[in-house]
Amino acid sequence: MSSTASPLRFFRAQVTAITDLTPSFRRFTFGGPDLADYGDPGFDQRVKVVFPTKTVGLDAMPSGDDWYTEWREMAEDERPPFRTYTTRSVRNDVCEVDIDMVAHDVIGPASAWISRAVVGDEVLILAPTTAHTGVSYGIDFVPPANTESLLLAGDETAAPAIAVILEQLPREARGVVVLEMPHREDVEYLPRHPGFEYRVSARGDGRRHAHLVTAVEQAAARLAPAGRGAEVEEIDVDTDILWEVPRTAKGGAALKSATLYSWLAGEASAIKSMRRDLVAGHGVDRRAVAFMGYWRLGKAEN
Ligand SMILES: Cc1cc2nc3c(=O)[nH]c(=O)nc-3n(C[C@H](O)[C@H](O)[C@H](O)COP(=O)(O)OP(=O)(O)OC[C@H]3O[C@@H](n4cnc5c(N)ncnc54)[C@H](O)[C@@H]3O)c2cc1C
Repeated sequence: MSSTASPLRFFRAQVTAITDLTPSFRRFTFGGPDLADYGDPGFDQRVKVVFPTKTVGLDAMPSGDDWYTEWREMAEDERPPFRTYTTRSVRNDVCEVDIDMVAHDVIGPASAWISRAVVGDEVLILAPTTAHTGVSYGIDFVPPANTESLLLAGDETAAPAIAVILEQLPREARGVVVLEMPHREDVEYLPRHPGFEYRVSARGDGRRHAHLVTAVEQAAARLAPAGRGAEVEEIDVDTDILWEVPRTAKGGAALKSATLYSWLAGEASAIKSMRRDLVAGHGVDRRAVAFMGYWRLGKAEN
């Protein structure tokens, strides 16, 4: 039974450890008594992380049910910024949460914080609580109950979600992972699943998305049943958010079975290009694909 109270609340979390996993990924372990009831619904559970800045502290963040309206009404230089991340793991027994964050060029409030943070620093995390047992807000990996193959694809920002999905899928699951990472040493980031073929590549100085788009198209051509190309409405990724996640009204999978279910997340123009390839080019059934523009090159999240 789903709870009627808001499934989310702000958790106050203190950095207890920082681990540089690879050149691009920093694992932040957060602790503190407030995390005892931090919910862990799994898969690609997204959360909002509120960062303090040099001039605005976390106490300025509105925290009631209407926090977003209140936050929007605040002057830009008086409100703390927040960005979207993925819960990597939760250990309620010791009040710990891990979030893996990419340290990209220091040009946004999150990346600035990621590069400078030290043990003891605090953030707020808007996440589900353990009390919430209904369909969770923030999980977009909803494959049909009978899925023959899975295609999980994205760039480094999608890697933490793909990592959790791979860890939580049963051993019998089968599929392909396509991932484009910034550096050669980042390609070891993902955990291994015995039923998956890994097509993970480093971008290096090469063209952004070249590997991702090509390898996804090849995997879809191999795994998806031949279909008739369907028209796709064009989306302007500079003004609109590309977020298409097929679901039933109750939040479950849109289909009962599928030959292939695809989950694609990353920079919005790459997702747009793959959406065109898959839906218009290969006739892939949109009811079995989640297309998610996680970020847009040249544009701040909010
Ligand atoms: C559902 C969801 C889950 C996510 N999970 C994670 C996660 O677990 N780990 C993680 O690291 N990221 C994750 N992201 C991506 C993260 O939210 C963005 O990268 C975010 O924009 C970073 O904020 P910022 O303050 O550094 O940059 P912003 O202020 O948002 O943007 C400033 C500039 O930086 C650029 N920029 C933003 N992100 C990147 C990037 N990755 N590489 C290069 N340039 C960039 C923007 O295009 C813009 O020009 C997730 C996003 C979504 C929507």
